[in-house]
Amino acid sequence: MENDFLTVLKQQLQTPQKTVIIPHKNPDGDALGSCLAWMHFLQNEKHEAVIVSPNEYPAFLDWMPGQEQILIYSQQPEQAEQKLEQADLIFTLDFNSLGRIDALEPLVEKASAFKVMIDHHESPDDYAALMYSDPKMSSTCEMVYHLITALNPKALTPDIANCLYTGIMTDTGSFKYPSTTAETHKAIAHLIEQGAEGTDIHQKIYDSSSFNRLKLLGIALSNLTQIHTLPVVYITLSQAELNSCAYQKGDTEGFVNYGLSLEGVQFACILIENEKEGKIKMSFRSKGAFSVNDFARTYFEGGGHHNAAGGMSKDSLEKTVARFKTAVLQIADQF
Ligand code: 5GP
Ligand code: MN
Repeated sequence: MENDFLTVLKQQLQTPQKTVIIPHKNPDGDALGSCLAWMHFLQNEKHEAVIVSPNEYPAFLDWMPGQEQILIYSQQPEQAEQKLEQADLIFTLDFNSLGRIDALEPLVEKASAFKVMIDHHESPDDYAALMYSDPKMSSTCEMVYHLITALNPKALTPDIANCLYTGIMTDTGSFKYPSTTAETHKAIAHLIEQGAEGTDIHQKIYDSSSFNRLKLLGIALSNLTQIHTLPVVYITLSQAELNSCAYQKGDTEGFVNYGLSLEGVQFACILIENEKEGKIKMSFRSKGAFSVNDFARTYFEGGGHHNAAGGMSKDSLEKTVARFKTAVLQIADQF
């Protein structure tokens, strides 16, 4: 974190401020964990802090401390708009391009608030007046950990520790991705000392599947396909297949990783049909040198990190699969 960032942020937070914190659409553990931790910190420092999420978050996160205070724009647009209009500061966490917040984009653009980005994705846009952007960080939660401890070393409460632990754990694949450093483990150790309950969080996130979710995983795995003899696999889930298992938001979280668990596979993709939004949501994961961030940006209007990215297609599922195969064959020399 650069000293300038801290200095300017401290100036902005000298007196009680009205603040809004925004995660990306379809917030995950890191987005929600970082926003909630930052909300608790600001509230404890006597600021007004409210999280405005573009849409709902998955049920496996609905135990997180403070989540009941989140304003969901798609459900309470007037209240959310009012908060954004009145805000002195807007913090955008775990994304770096306003396209990731859908309908909130124009509202944030027109808001007069001082905008601060805290994020670990590559190639940030320049909408924020102040930026803490570090793609080497495991998670936005690890960044918020550094930020809070730099601002006030005594500020870590058990609620903040639990929120930050959750996001670091989920964004590192339980501390196994290459972004996990000694510093990450030191942060985690400190969070445990301050009251984070690791075992409890692991169980709440990973051992909370519904029967329907496991049935859907069975369908996903039976759809797993390899592209020719390349170390590339993909999974499809059609809307009908999702419906047959009474799909709930968050049910497909983690499915794409099963493709990558195959020996030798370097690139895995999942394509999920969303009839209501008229699009196919794609998640990309890789091991090693192959950049799914570049792939997602080049072919599927997306982006993310080197080894984990997302994208989308407005074509049918069949056509998107065909486009995906063509794209993979075009870059096959990278494997
Ligand atoms: P997921 O596949 O879990 O949705 O996303 C994987 C990673 O890529 C996450 O860090 C997520 O924030 C990022 N990501 C997902 N979709 C998009 C997208 O459409 N654009 C960009 N820039 N990043 C994305
Ligand atoms: Mn993240």
